[in-house]
Amino acid sequence: MTMPIYPQLEISETLAAGPGPGNTDARVLAAFSRVGMADHMQDDVLRGMIECKHMLRRLWGTQNTHTFAVAGTGWSGLDTMFSAVMPGDTVVAFVNGTFSGIDAKTLNIKAATAAEHAANPLDPQAASVTTVEIPHGQSISGEVIETALARHKPKWAFMAHWETGSGRINDLQGFSDACSRHGAMGLIDAVSSLGVEEFAIDDYPGVAGWASCPQKGLCCLPLTYAPVSFTDAYIEALKTRGAYSYVHNPIFEARHWGIVNGQDVDKGSYHRTHSAYAVSAFHESLRLALQDGLAKRAHSYRTHEAVLREALTAMGCEVTSNMTSLVVLNLPPALAGREMELVQNCRAQGFGIWPTLSEPVQVRIGILNLLDRGVISKIVHLFADAMRDLGAEVDGASIAAILDTRYGTSVAA
Ligand SMILES: *Cc1c(COP(=O)(O)O)cnc(C)c1O
Repeated sequence: MTMPIYPQLEISETLAAGPGPGNTDARVLAAFSRVGMADHMQDDVLRGMIECKHMLRRLWGTQNTHTFAVAGTGWSGLDTMFSAVMPGDTVVAFVNGTFSGIDAKTLNIKAATAAEHAANPLDPQAASVTTVEIPHGQSISGEVIETALARHKPKWAFMAHWETGSGRINDLQGFSDACSRHGAMGLIDAVSSLGVEEFAIDDYPGVAGWASCPQKGLCCLPLTYAPVSFTDAYIEALKTRGAYSYVHNPIFEARHWGIVNGQDVDKGSYHRTHSAYAVSAFHESLRLALQDGLAKRAHSYRTHEAVLREALTAMGCEVTSNMTSLVVLNLPPALAGREMELVQNCRAQGFGIWPTLSEPVQVRIGILNLLDRGVISKIVHLFADAMRDLGAEVDGASIAAILDTRYGTSVAA
């Protein structure tokens, strides 16, 4: 029997109210599909990449020459950032959730010796890597960072700025200060914070490497670019010690973005085949972010998250997160243990919320690029309905009153 030809793939529209991917902006999608076919050395494509590089530096508040983006998703940018970590390097990694946990795993893979890889090929345990675990639901504090770096004096230190697994914001200032004090090169997973929070790389001189992603705060899912930025000290380490990667070596990658020998040049040179569609979409997402302005965006996230949090709390949920793009919550005691059921019911109806991906099981509701009264109200009502479907009593009037008061008086929709 021959295999039939499948019908054309249809993917239905969902309300993407999870931790990410966020809602790709219509302008970004239009830019993606408007582009003509062009190769990766065509003038407009190269010019677009150089403009992206300059926009990224502005958006991210940095003079770091090595600020560009890596084709792929968040992990592609993170892999590039971790490429300078060599076998046997001393590392302290702070972990408080799913994503920083995977980052710590990556660091073990990079820092493991050949013998350590052979002993446990899929999960090497590098003796030179110290992982400091902070319980799920808590932030990593400056004191914890200071204590660990003072004690271990590692070459590298790692932390997630915003841990999307538990929805917690970690102490970036404390991290940068401790890195400077103890001579560690800081590495930051900024996947969830770029484009959502207002911050500037150059305010954190203890951090040598940064990596983010396309599809969260930048609203640019059509597989595009993960922004990265490196200080000269990071690039110097790479120059003198090398890296076990061609494609994700920041020095090589940067060439296509017009960064050669630490200098901006007029035209990029070949590193790999870039997509004109992706460059155009990414370019539009950066224009959009700069036009909005980070201050305005950050304010809008804070405002809408506060309304969502208040409504969910009124329904009896306990919110344990403090990120502004995501609410992580425990269901009321009567529904405890039914988190997965509730999330699956919602997802079956195109309401794309998420559970946590590691223990404990909690519910995650995100608002990436969902920053208006209509859609936040819709999320609140859909979630109330899902709780009622499981037998909870939800007081519709008091929830409607919260939305009315918060949006009616202090907040413009
Ligand atoms: C989403 C996320 C990642 C992974 O990003 P991908 O785009 O899925 O590769 C890594 N770290 C954090 C903190 C994240 O939120």
